[in-house]
Amino acid sequence: MYAKIYTLEDSYKYKGQRKRLVESLQSKGITDERVIQAMLSVPRHFFFPEAFWSKAYDDAAFPIEGGQTISQPFTVAFQTQLLALKPGARVLEIGTGSGYQAAVLSAMGAEVYSIERVEELFRSAAEKLKECGYPVNVFLGDGTVGLPSKGPFDGIIVTAAAPDLAEHLKVQLKTGGRLVLPVGDQSFQKMVLIERLVDNKYRRTEHGDFKFVPLIGKYGWTN
Ligand code: SAM
Repeated sequence: MYAKIYTLEDSYKYKGQRKRLVESLQSKGITDERVIQAMLSVPRHFFFPEAFWSKAYDDAAFPIEGGQTISQPFTVAFQTQLLALKPGARVLEIGTGSGYQAAVLSAMGAEVYSIERVEELFRSAAEKLKECGYPVNVFLGDGTVGLPSKGPFDGIIVTAAAPDLAEHLKVQLKTGGRLVLPVGDQSFQKMVLIERLVDNKYRRTEHGDFKFVPLIGKYGWTN
């Protein structure tokens, strides 16, 4: 019995495309050097359906299995920059999707927990993250309730749109922790940052308009 040997193609062509993508993100305001280095290193094409690898370094969202999307690179960079993670931070991602955002967080040295409600995506993302060597802990379930058994977290990032989950999730932050989530209706959302300053003191700020697929679950949308 032989172990399966995976070959992940990360050619000079893809590295070059990644560099150009990251330069375009910098021109749009991404300045955090750790986010930049992580996005230079993670092979985004590998989190795409193979037939569409040529599209992987466009700054655009793209359809994946289950009627979902892999987020636009600018959105990934923007949310990750807002998280302002320190190395070794414990982070929860809600909405694993393709696994790409989780890979970026892991490449930054975070201890990553990620939860997805669609089983097909959960399986495929867990497998790809393992193949690429990112030690992400992936869970199948309703992320609208967070993941209290693995908290508290230094950072929580929600990558689908919800009415307003902040009240349910902010208690799963450590003091000094940051929650980044798109809040709004199903047409568009404001990017919200909640910082836990001290025990029961939080600061809420808004950071521009975005458009995400809906977060479906107990504290999200029903469909
Ligand atoms: N972060 C992902 C990536 O890097 O590819 C993109 C996420 S996609 C925009 C949103 C994801 O949230 C979808 O995969 C969707 O199935 C998932 N989702 C929706 N409701 C959820 C819930 N209650 N719990 C966990 N995941 C959920």
